[in-house]
Amino acid sequence: MNLKKWVKEVILSHFLVCRSTTGAEKVALTFDDGPFHPYTEQVLDVLDEAGMKATFFVVGEQVKKYPEITKMIEARGHELGNHSMTHPEFSLLGYHAISDELDDVWELLRSDDQAPESRSLFRPPKGVITLGLLRYILAKRQKAILWNVDPEDYKVTSADEITDFFEQHPLIAGDIALLHDKTPYTPLALKSLLDQLAASGLQSVTVSELLKG
Ligand SMILES: [Zn+2]
Repeated sequence: MNLKKWVKEVILSHFLVCRSTTGAEKVALTFDDGPFHPYTEQVLDVLDEAGMKATFFVVGEQVKKYPEITKMIEARGHELGNHSMTHPEFSLLGYHAISDELDDVWELLRSDDQAPESRSLFRPPKGVITLGLLRYILAKRQKAILWNVDPEDYKVTSADEITDFFEQHPLIAGDIALLHDKTPYTPLALKSLLDQLAASGLQSVTVSELLKG
């Protein structure tokens, strides 16, 4: 393997994850930008009822507004990821500003007693990867979790649009789907998505669980 290919396939695929290739019958549903009341709680209720797990990439400013909802996410067996303090455009920021945006959220989450020792999953706002961010990833040995399925649920004006998307693009094993817990439509569409997964023999798990295989 030549060096360029090795860097891309081995190094980058280890630190920048878009889907899992372990082959297990699992997918990861991820919810960005929250927590938001009451949508995060609604998402949690639907997930819990179906016995499915998910990862929530939270924004620090929202964590400060809704610390109890943030705690509830982990208390109910789901996973927290870091989605930056203020959701800025990373393309406009250098390494130090990016580090501050992410480290401040780790600090905020660490003040929670339930914090596991090793939180390391984050998602840059809009999935933007810059050189400054790559430097952060390598320096801190963290994984940037991207996605490979995006129904653009933040743009829709009905739950049916999300349901239609997943009917036309059913999730398959290893997929990481990008969703948001900040509108009424995603929690409303979630039950039919989870029913569809169960009917296909797929389980939604946390990203950490998905990557274990
Ligand atoms: Zn976002």
